[in-house]
Amino acid sequence: MRSFAYVRPADVPAAVAAVAGLPNAKFLGGGTNLVDLMRRDIEHPDTVVDVTGLPLDEVTELPDGGLRVGALVRNSHLAAHPLVRTRYPVLTQAVLMGASGQLRNMATVGGNLLQRTRCHYFQDTTAACNKRAPGTGCAALTGFTRNHAVLGTSESCIATHPSDLCVALAALDAVVEVESVRGTRRIPATEFHVPPGNTPSVETRLAGDELITAVELPHLPLAATSRYRKVRDRASYAFALVSVAAALRTEHGRVAEVRLALGGVATHPWRARTAEEHLTGAPATEELFREAAEAELSAAVSHGDNAFKVGLAQRTMVAVLRQLGG
Ligand code: SF4
Repeated sequence: MRSFAYVRPADVPAAVAAVAGLPNAKFLGGGTNLVDLMRRDIEHPDTVVDVTGLPLDEVTELPDGGLRVGALVRNSHLAAHPLVRTRYPVLTQAVLMGASGQLRNMATVGGNLLQRTRCHYFQDTTAACNKRAPGTGCAALTGFTRNHAVLGTSESCIATHPSDLCVALAALDAVVEVESVRGTRRIPATEFHVPPGNTPSVETRLAGDELITAVELPHLPLAATSRYRKVRDRASYAFALVSVAAALRTEHGRVAEVRLALGGVATHPWRARTAEEHLTGAPATEELFREAAEAELSAAVSHGDNAFKVGLAQRTMVAVLRQLGG
């Protein structure tokens, strides 16, 4: 057991002040990931700043019809919120397909954005892992890769991002609001997570002293009929092999607007912009959906055991688009 300082600030200014100048401090939300990683000696902060008492636990309507979701809103609360269910069903579906009921009751929106990979070599402190211990190598590259990524990978890391919620946020063009002693910053959800490159231990654009305070969902009428489909080994309590978040609007048989994002196949929530460009303005046919899915996955690099994900992702994209396209 490593000792650490525990702080419980009463407001946001006190919370960001508590980590200023402390590079090895961590914010604690629901604790569903950080506490596990501390127990396994993967995370070992000097200071834990418990933010669960901060007033960041509400979903509020924005003047333009969007929603502002406080960073401490629990996942189960988010999924059940009437405005989320009606305006952004993809978000409700994504959350309800993640984890278990107990975990969703504890886990927060801010924590979901920061959850770390479930790569089993990352979780095993005896294995080489550039993400956990930079410069030590990547055991997955010569190991069992069934759950690993085929998009956004590098020679240093091929781990998948584990979140369902973040895939939906990427499709919805959400914006993440963060706070530090320097002020407030807004980061598009599609840019919040970064590909591993040569530094897989760097997973987001968040500075070490920045606190996620909210996620804003833009007004997006298209999202009212959005869908999340998740393919996994078990019907519940399993991470995605492939997931697709999608929204589609057709006009006179052509694709007028589309949003697509993939989970389970990439190192970060993957906005499928190649497929979106392929689809927009074209006749909404099964053939077009297939071509768009193939175009998106054309950059895929598989590693043996995970080669099946390329075709599975394409078929899942087509199935969701077919459902939305009528
Ligand atoms: Fe570590 Fe990434 Fe390799 Fe997994 S894939 S062992 S997280 S470097």
